[in-house]
Amino acid sequence: MKPFDLLRKGILCAAAAVLCFTWVGRAAAPPPGQASKQDEELQLGQEVFDELKARGEIVESSPLYDQLRPIADAITRAAQPQYNHPFKFYLVHENQPNAFATPGGNVYVVDSLLYFVKNTEELAGTLCHEVSHTIHRDTVALMEKQQKIQAREVGAAVLLGPTRAHLLAILLLGKLHSLSYSRDAESNADVTGSDICAKAGYNPWGLVWLFQDFQNADIGQVPQLLSDHPGNQNRVRTLEKHFRANPSVFGKFNSDAKAAQPISVPKNASEVFLR
Ligand SMILES: [Zn+2]
Repeated sequence: MKPFDLLRKGILCAAAAVLCFTWVGRAAAPPPGQASKQDEELQLGQEVFDELKARGEIVESSPLYDQLRPIADAITRAAQPQYNHPFKFYLVHENQPNAFATPGGNVYVVDSLLYFVKNTEELAGTLCHEVSHTIHRDTVALMEKQQKIQAREVGAAVLLGPTRAHLLAILLLGKLHSLSYSRDAESNADVTGSDICAKAGYNPWGLVWLFQDFQNADIGQVPQLLSDHPGNQNRVRTLEKHFRANPSVFGKFNSDAKAAQPISVPKNASEVFLR
């Protein structure tokens, strides 16, 4: 779905949601000024979770979690000291292989990404990259920018009265499905992500291998989060420079993709969705 379709659909959802909020007597947001920035992050993350749940996208149980969980656990152990809300990883079912993180610590991994990556290190690299966006609070910065860009749409939706957090969640989802971060933010997430992967024991060259795979891939098959083709070479160069500058951390890892750990994912794995 195109971001703007999603946005349009989202505004309708947001309008519908405000009725639900009113009718079920859901706790109102704290008065302005009382909610800290951190509370807002949690609230925004929860709204995105609720929206994905309402769309029936969140996978509650699947054998695919057997592949995801050990990687997610190791990354969480390595990254958690840098973020003040617990990281949680969820599989979601969407058309494009993708992964995205929201404020508050949730990381969403599209099921088909597990089939798209060629090895464990490529999957770990992608997740380390996403966790780094959360640590850098890139999504919060993106939302603040996005709010200005979409002022007209926001204005239209505000007339209908959705709660601010839900509206932001809808906008955020739209942006997370499109190319949205600046190249600097992407490169910074790569660098922090490589530190996290190294700490978690996953070869940080995985992200470089993934970019290299993309050079030959059909653009439609490339996960959107990493599909910035002209920028990929720069991102690889930035990572290589970072590895060279920190030999004590990165020197022990093999840059050859032949050394990768294969990933074995069951074909047509069953999925039970959270309702
Ligand atoms: Zn990114």
